[in-house]
Amino acid sequence: MALTFREFAEFCDSIEKISSTLEMTAKIAGFLRKIEDDRDLCDVVLFLNGRIYPPWDEREVGVGIGLVYEALKLATGAEKAKIENLLRETGDLGKAAEMLVRKRKQLTLFQVELTIRKVREIFDIMSSLTGEGSQKRKVRLLADLYVSSTPVEARYLTRLVLGEMRLGVGEGIMRDAIAKAWGVSSELVERAYMITNDFGKVAVVVKDMGKEGLEKLKIQLHIPVKMMLAQVAEDVDSAVREMGEVAVEWKFDGTRVQIHWGDGKVTIFSRRLENVTRALPEVVSEVKKAVKEGVILDGEAVAMKEGRPMPFQQILRRFRRKHDVGKMLEKVPIKVYLFDVLFANGEETIDLPMSERRTILESLIGKSEIVLLAEQKITKSVEDIEDIYHQALNAGHEGVMMKNPKSPYIPGKRGKHWLKLKPVMENLDLVVVGGEWGEGKRSHVISSYELACLDEHGRFLRVGKVATGFTDEELEELTELFKSLIEYQEGKKVRFKPYYVFEVAYQEIQKSPKYDSGYALRFPRFVRLRDDKSIDEADTIERIARLYEVQFRSKKV
Ligand code: AMP
Repeated sequence: MALTFREFAEFCDSIEKISSTLEMTAKIAGFLRKIEDDRDLCDVVLFLNGRIYPPWDEREVGVGIGLVYEALKLATGAEKAKIENLLRETGDLGKAAEMLVRKRKQLTLFQVELTIRKVREIFDIMSSLTGEGSQKRKVRLLADLYVSSTPVEARYLTRLVLGEMRLGVGEGIMRDAIAKAWGVSSELVERAYMITNDFGKVAVVVKDMGKEGLEKLKIQLHIPVKMMLAQVAEDVDSAVREMGEVAVEWKFDGTRVQIHWGDGKVTIFSRRLENVTRALPEVVSEVKKAVKEGVILDGEAVAMKEGRPMPFQQILRRFRRKHDVGKMLEKVPIKVYLFDVLFANGEETIDLPMSERRTILESLIGKSEIVLLAEQKITKSVEDIEDIYHQALNAGHEGVMMKNPKSPYIPGKRGKHWLKLKPVMENLDLVVVGGEWGEGKRSHVISSYELACLDEHGRFLRVGKVATGFTDEELEELTELFKSLIEYQEGKKVRFKPYYVFEVAYQEIQKSPKYDSGYALRFPRFVRLRDDKSIDEADTIERIARLYEVQFRSKKV
């Protein structure tokens, strides 16, 4: 029997308030278990996660808040202002839609019952619409769904098209629920998910073919595999001790790509498994020319100009661009450094040791200016690794990756087979150029200090103020010290002759027009007075820019 959308929505409502993960998992397992139809099961699993398509699928329904407003207006007659009021009251457009549909319901006599299948069909139509008139048609289609909805269906329909189910069903809960529903281990479900990135498919396989079905699931061309990740290396010595031999590569300053090349086409996925093929046409054609067909490759795309990596934001700009890519090709030229292979010659290679994968990888790539093999050196020598590390930094890259040559490729895993080594975020030493007298019981001390870094000419560029991290005693002492350096005072503000250096910790560096350095420190905290350092030894704007880049990258997901 086909599952109705109403049953689905009522189930969502029944789990929405559950806070216990175990209880939630058990309820979902019970619900999934009862679904007979494969397609319904696949959709319910996606929908519960707030998805209409798996993350790597390029299709999208393309419904934003504005379109929901229009559809609601068409279906219930509610004006924008009214919807906005409800939204303000409830903080949830889903609830607002529910209220509007509830009111209208009293007037409606007939209603077509919505099934999961029907909703799926409408979504697929919506995502296929492009060009002129497509918005109007989407509004019409969504309005039709609202007309057939009960209030609770309207709530979840709205949340679903906006991609926000607010159920708290994350990937971990879904994995465990699927495992529990059909009595298989969570690890097996996890592995299947890592190579398909589609819980809907995983659920269908385990329902129809059980444990064996899951075990037989294989990597497929043009469906992305979760990428293997690296842990932070403690130091080079311990990496060598642990791995014996280490495969060392540069840690390129770019962004991850997984390239699928087979059945006559190339598909490229980002680290978040988004399909970025359209943004990289030159990589697509070069892969077709220079790489043997039937492969899945792992690598780093780097924006390179005059032999050096461009700032990290540039490559992100390239990746975001889907239309008018042409101009960007010249502005932000890309090279791809390939360092692994997941599939070749019709077979998975992930379970082979890295040294064997490397041999295969080398046999696949021909001569090219754009698609290159990342150099790798196998060594036991700490000095060798340190040399490569410095070469990488000198070339403008991030550091090195140290990989265990015996290790398999473990999708989605941040394990110790891959260790990354890069300069860490350190405290900054900054010149104190100004300050401000305190208030209340601190009015007799200078309680905040203005900090600056140096530019290449030794000029001071301000990066912010520090007002925390001092003890009262320190403030007294510092005030004594700085009083003699006051050059100028206006109200409570003072300017100092630059003389002292503070070491400060901070949470992050931000870009900011507020200070003449163009950067600002977030949550700066006084660590100590560096009276061992003269002002010309303070940190430079160049270093701050680099640290900004590094932290920006470490936040990428
Ligand atoms: P992180 O982003 O700091 O966690 O470092 C891991 C990332 O480094 C990977 O996701 C890649 O995008 C990137 N990377 C750069 N060079 C390499 C390399 N030779 N091997 C593996 N990953 C690399």
